[in-house]
Amino acid sequence: MHTRKDGIMVILSSPSGVGKTTLVKLLSERKKFYISISHTTRKPRPAEKNNKDYFFVDEKEFQRLINNDEFLEYAKVFNNLYGTTRSPVINRLENGKNVIFDIDWQGADQIKNKRLNYKLITFYLLPPSKKILFERLSNRDMKDKLIVSQRMKEFNRDVLHWINYDYVIINDTIEECYNKIDKLIDAEIIDGPKEYDKNYIRDHVSKLIS
Ligand code: 5GP
Repeated sequence: MHTRKDGIMVILSSPSGVGKTTLVKLLSERKKFYISISHTTRKPRPAEKNNKDYFFVDEKEFQRLINNDEFLEYAKVFNNLYGTTRSPVINRLENGKNVIFDIDWQGADQIKNKRLNYKLITFYLLPPSKKILFERLSNRDMKDKLIVSQRMKEFNRDVLHWINYDYVIINDTIEECYNKIDKLIDAEIIDGPKEYDKNYIRDHVSKLIS
C-alpha cells in the first residue's frame, strides 16, 4: 500500500494544444514534482533538448528497451513511439518524491492497470471550446493548416477517453486550471473533500464533440 513516505504519481493528459506542457512545468516548479522524462523516436523540435525534454532515440534503441522490459508503459502516438522507463520513476517514488507524467491516454491506461503500490491521480485537460482550441493550435508553431486540421480530427478521437480519468479540468486560463489541479491533488493526499462536478464535465464534452 501507499505509505506516507512514498511519493505519489500524477498523470496529465490532453489533446494537443490544450496547454498541458505549461501546467506540467508549473506543477513541477511550485509543488516540487519531478517530471518523468520519456523516451521517444520523434525528432527533436528546434527548442528541445536531449535528456531534458525527452531522451531522443532511434527505433532500434526503443525496441531494445522494449525487449529488456524497461518500460513502465509505451505507446505509438502520431506515428512515433513514446515510453516511460520504469527505474527513474520508481527510484523517485521510493525516495518520497512525487512524479508527474505528461503522457497520452494509452500510457495512462497502462500505468493505471499496473496497480502499483503508489498513489496515482489522473487528470485530463480540455479546452473551453473547439473554437478556442482551433485558435490556440493555429497560433502555435503550427502555422501549417494541414497539421491544424489533423490535430482537430485527432481531438475528436482523443477526447472520448476522458471517462477513464479521475478528474477532467477545463483549461480556461492557466492559473485557474493550475489552482483546480493543485486543490484536487492536496485533497487527494489528505483524503479530504473534493470540488468536482462530473455532470458539468459530461455536458461540456457533449458540446465539444457535437
Ligand atoms: P509531443 O510529440 O507533442 O511532445 O507529444 C505527443 C503526445 O505524446 C502527447 O500527448 C504526450 O503527452 C504524449 N507522450 C509523451 N511522452 C509519452 C510517453 O512516455 N508515453 C506515452 N504514452 N505518451 C507520451
